Amino acid sequence: MRALRRLEARRPGFFELRDLRLNRPTPNYLLHESAHAIAFRELFGRPRDVRVALTNESALLGIELGEAYAMTAEYLASAAISGPLHRFLFSVNSYRLRTPGKQAIGELAADLGLARTALAILLAFLNNLFFRERLTQSSVDRLLSLSDQILGECAPALARPQERAATGRRTRVPATPNPARVRRALSELMQMDSDFRTDTTRLFLNMFGRNRNVKRILSADPLALVAGDANARRSIAALIRILVDDAAPARGRRPHAVR
Ligand SMILES: [Zn+2]
Repeated sequence: MRALRRLEARRPGFFELRDLRLNRPTPNYLLHESAHAIAFRELFGRPRDVRVALTNESALLGIELGEAYAMTAEYLASAAISGPLHRFLFSVNSYRLRTPGKQAIGELAADLGLARTALAILLAFLNNLFFRERLTQSSVDRLLSLSDQILGECAPALARPQERAATGRRTRVPATPNPARVRRALSELMQMDSDFRTDTTRLFLNMFGRNRNVKRILSADPLALVAGDANARRSIAALIRILVDDAAPARGRRPHAVR
């Protein structure tokens, strides 16, 4: 959006944003798939052979974390829409049509800060990708303590909410999450078609040599897998930092010159 606005301002009368509306680009998966690329780099590094990396027996958690991250990025992007131009830009870069739980998640972010909220969303999506259909209160309790562990270990600065508030002032210390409220908000958000998820997961894992019985392959407890994997926790913290930094106001950033 910022880039488009700069482009318009730089060449008055030459390119106008409303031209996009008249010549609407084809909707695409750019946002979701770009998030996958970012997650892959963070979780798998730069392997010489991507296929080998994804076929590896130990890649399963990384694969599902990548999916959970792409879904989180897309959800937050859709929740952040402000104004018609932003809505238009999002609509051509995503097939996501609805943002369930937007208000409840917004309230959560106001209390807990964006980083902790984004992390809770990511872990809830991960839980769901391992075919845990209902988000139980005990899962939410574990998910919240795992979130705090990840941020405490790898990104303590991110655990402090409000430092990036629009006012630029640090006004509040993090609220202690109310687990029942977190569960309500996350459950509202997790409205995924189970058959669609099963089919797409099977298709993907099958491409990388895994059995068709994806429910069996993904029968482990994903929160326990993350809790027992320091590398995964480090990668998750780095990915959340990318999301939160990207959402921060551009204050203090020098725009790139557009020529
Ligand atoms: Zn995906």
